[in-house]
Amino acid sequence: MSDNVSSRIEIAAEVGDPATDPWWEFRQVERITLELSQGYKYSLGKYSRFFIELENQRFLATRCDYCAKVYAPPRPLCPVCLEPTAWTQLSGEGAVETWSVLHFSPGSNADVRALETPYVLAYVLLDGADTLFPHLLKAPPDQVERGLRVRVAYSGEPVQHPIHQMYFVPME
Ligand SMILES: [Zn+2]
Repeated sequence: MSDNVSSRIEIAAEVGDPATDPWWEFRQVERITLELSQGYKYSLGKYSRFFIELENQRFLATRCDYCAKVYAPPRPLCPVCLEPTAWTQLSGEGAVETWSVLHFSPGSNADVRALETPYVLAYVLLDGADTLFPHLLKAPPDQVERGLRVRVAYSGEPVQHPIHQMYFVPME
Protein backbone atom coordinates (compact mmCIF):
# COMPACT_ATOMS: atom_id res chain seq x y z
CA MET A 1 0.00 0.00 0.00
CA SER A 2 1.32 3.42 -0.88
CA ASP A 3 1.19 6.50 1.32
CA ASN A 4 -1.80 7.74 -0.67
CA VAL A 5 -4.14 4.94 0.41
CA SER A 6 -5.79 4.69 3.79
CA SER A 7 -8.67 2.67 5.19
CA ARG A 8 -10.82 2.57 8.29
CA ILE A 9 -13.70 0.44 9.50
CA GLU A 10 -16.75 2.23 10.78
CA ILE A 11 -20.12 1.21 12.13
CA ALA A 12 -22.52 2.74 9.65
CA ALA A 13 -25.78 2.01 11.47
CA GLU A 14 -26.97 0.73 14.83
CA VAL A 15 -30.37 -0.92 14.72
CA GLY A 16 -32.38 -2.95 17.19
CA ASP A 17 -31.97 -3.56 20.90
CA PRO A 18 -29.04 -5.71 22.08
CA ALA A 19 -30.97 -6.73 25.20
CA THR A 20 -33.75 -8.42 23.24
CA ASP A 21 -32.20 -9.17 19.83
CA PRO A 22 -29.82 -12.19 19.83
CA TRP A 23 -28.68 -11.23 16.30
CA TRP A 24 -27.98 -7.62 17.21
CA GLU A 25 -24.23 -7.85 16.74
CA PHE A 26 -24.70 -9.30 13.25
CA ARG A 27 -27.17 -6.62 12.22
CA GLN A 28 -24.65 -3.86 12.59
CA VAL A 29 -23.48 -2.68 9.21
CA GLU A 30 -19.74 -2.40 8.98
CA ARG A 31 -18.29 -0.29 6.25
CA ILE A 32 -14.68 -0.11 5.20
CA THR A 33 -13.84 3.27 3.79
CA LEU A 34 -10.91 3.31 1.40
CA GLU A 35 -9.49 6.69 0.55
CA LEU A 36 -7.24 6.87 -2.46
CA SER A 37 -5.57 9.87 -4.01
CA GLN A 38 -3.64 9.53 -7.19
CA GLY A 39 -1.82 11.88 -9.51
CA TYR A 40 -1.79 11.13 -13.21
CA LYS A 41 -0.90 12.71 -16.50
CA TYR A 42 -3.63 12.92 -19.11
CA SER A 43 -3.25 13.90 -22.74
CA LEU A 44 -5.97 15.63 -24.70
CA GLY A 45 -3.88 15.38 -27.83
CA LYS A 46 -4.65 17.86 -30.60
CA TYR A 47 -7.35 19.49 -28.42
CA SER A 48 -4.93 20.35 -25.59
CA ARG A 49 -4.49 24.00 -26.54
CA PHE A 50 -8.25 24.59 -26.34
CA PHE A 51 -8.26 23.42 -22.71
CA ILE A 52 -5.04 25.23 -21.79
CA GLU A 53 -6.49 28.50 -23.10
CA LEU A 54 -9.70 27.92 -21.10
CA GLU A 55 -7.48 28.20 -18.04
CA ASN A 56 -6.31 31.54 -19.44
CA GLN A 57 -9.99 32.48 -19.96
CA ARG A 58 -9.60 32.56 -23.74
CA PHE A 59 -12.06 30.70 -25.94
CA LEU A 60 -10.51 29.11 -29.01
CA ALA A 61 -12.00 27.51 -32.09
CA THR A 62 -10.42 26.23 -35.29
CA ARG A 63 -10.83 27.61 -38.80
CA CYS A 64 -10.38 25.94 -42.16
CA ASP A 65 -8.42 28.19 -44.52
CA TYR A 66 -9.93 26.48 -47.57
CA CYS A 67 -13.68 26.64 -46.89
CA ALA A 68 -13.55 29.26 -44.06
CA LYS A 69 -15.70 27.16 -41.75
CA VAL A 70 -15.08 27.79 -38.04
CA TYR A 71 -15.41 24.83 -35.68
CA ALA A 72 -16.40 25.24 -32.03
CA PRO A 73 -15.73 22.77 -30.44
CA PRO A 74 -12.44 22.80 -32.34
CA ARG A 75 -11.61 20.13 -34.90
CA PRO A 76 -7.99 19.53 -35.90
CA LEU A 77 -9.09 18.54 -39.41
CA CYS A 78 -11.84 20.09 -41.56
CA PRO A 79 -14.33 17.27 -42.23
CA VAL A 80 -15.34 18.91 -45.54
CA CYS A 81 -11.91 19.64 -47.05
CA LEU A 82 -9.85 17.13 -45.03
CA GLU A 83 -7.29 19.91 -44.45
CA PRO A 84 -5.65 20.76 -41.11
CA THR A 85 -7.32 23.74 -39.44
CA ALA A 86 -5.78 26.71 -37.62
CA TRP A 87 -6.54 28.10 -34.17
CA THR A 88 -8.63 31.24 -33.93
CA GLN A 89 -10.02 33.08 -30.92
CA LEU A 90 -13.74 33.77 -30.47
CA SER A 91 -15.38 36.26 -28.12
CA GLY A 92 -17.17 33.45 -26.27
CA GLU A 93 -20.55 35.12 -26.90
CA GLY A 94 -23.33 33.42 -28.79
CA ALA A 95 -26.99 32.45 -28.89
CA VAL A 96 -28.92 29.38 -27.77
CA GLU A 97 -30.06 27.32 -30.74
CA THR A 98 -31.77 24.52 -28.77
CA TRP A 99 -31.57 23.00 -25.30
CA SER A 100 -32.62 20.22 -22.93
CA VAL A 101 -33.63 20.40 -19.28
CA LEU A 102 -32.04 17.55 -17.35
CA HIS A 103 -33.55 16.26 -14.12
CA PHE A 104 -30.72 14.00 -13.06
CA SER A 105 -26.93 14.10 -13.27
CA PRO A 106 -25.64 10.95 -14.90
CA GLY A 107 -22.11 9.69 -15.18
CA SER A 108 -19.17 9.13 -12.91
CA ASN A 109 -17.69 12.62 -13.26
CA ALA A 110 -17.93 14.48 -9.94
CA ASP A 111 -18.26 17.80 -11.78
CA VAL A 112 -21.47 16.55 -13.38
CA ARG A 113 -22.79 14.72 -10.32
CA ALA A 114 -22.42 17.91 -8.27
CA LEU A 115 -24.83 19.82 -10.50
CA GLU A 116 -28.10 20.86 -8.93
CA THR A 117 -31.07 19.54 -10.87
CA PRO A 118 -32.79 20.50 -13.02
CA TYR A 119 -30.07 22.02 -15.14
CA VAL A 120 -29.86 23.13 -18.76
CA LEU A 121 -27.77 21.59 -21.51
CA ALA A 122 -27.72 24.15 -24.33
CA TYR A 123 -26.50 24.00 -27.91
CA VAL A 124 -24.93 27.40 -28.48
CA LEU A 125 -24.01 28.94 -31.82
CA LEU A 126 -21.03 31.06 -30.87
CA ASP A 127 -20.51 34.32 -32.75
CA GLY A 128 -18.14 33.60 -35.63
CA ALA A 129 -18.63 29.81 -35.50
CA ASP A 130 -20.45 27.50 -37.90
CA THR A 131 -21.12 24.62 -35.53
CA LEU A 132 -23.09 24.21 -32.30
CA PHE A 133 -21.29 23.94 -28.96
CA PRO A 134 -23.21 21.78 -26.46
CA HIS A 135 -22.56 22.59 -22.82
CA LEU A 136 -23.98 23.47 -19.43
CA LEU A 137 -25.98 26.72 -19.33
CA LYS A 138 -26.39 28.06 -15.81
CA ALA A 139 -29.80 29.69 -16.14
CA PRO A 140 -33.31 29.02 -14.80
CA PRO A 141 -34.86 26.48 -17.23
CA ASP A 142 -38.03 28.55 -17.65
CA GLN A 143 -36.02 31.55 -18.83
CA VAL A 144 -34.21 29.72 -21.64
CA GLU A 145 -35.43 30.33 -25.17
CA ARG A 146 -34.11 30.07 -28.71
CA GLY A 147 -31.91 33.06 -29.49
CA LEU A 148 -31.12 33.78 -25.82
CA ARG A 149 -27.77 35.60 -25.79
CA VAL A 150 -25.19 33.81 -23.66
CA ARG A 151 -21.48 34.03 -23.01
CA VAL A 152 -18.78 31.68 -21.79
CA ALA A 153 -18.01 31.94 -18.06
CA TYR A 154 -14.96 30.37 -16.46
CA SER A 155 -15.18 28.45 -13.19
CA GLY A 156 -11.66 29.26 -11.99
CA GLU A 157 -11.87 26.31 -9.58
CA PRO A 158 -10.28 22.85 -9.63
CA VAL A 159 -12.28 20.49 -11.85
CA GLN A 160 -12.10 16.81 -12.71
CA HIS A 161 -12.06 17.39 -16.45
CA PRO A 162 -10.85 20.62 -18.07
CA ILE A 163 -14.09 21.02 -20.07
CA HIS A 164 -15.72 21.94 -16.76
CA GLN A 165 -13.50 25.01 -16.53
CA MET A 166 -16.21 26.69 -18.60
CA TYR A 167 -19.98 26.95 -18.77
CA PHE A 168 -22.48 29.31 -20.36
CA VAL A 169 -24.40 32.08 -18.61
CA PRO A 170 -27.02 34.48 -19.96
CA MET A 171 -25.68 37.91 -20.92
CA GLU A 172 -27.02 40.80 -18.89
ZN1 LIG B 1 -12.69 23.20 -44.98
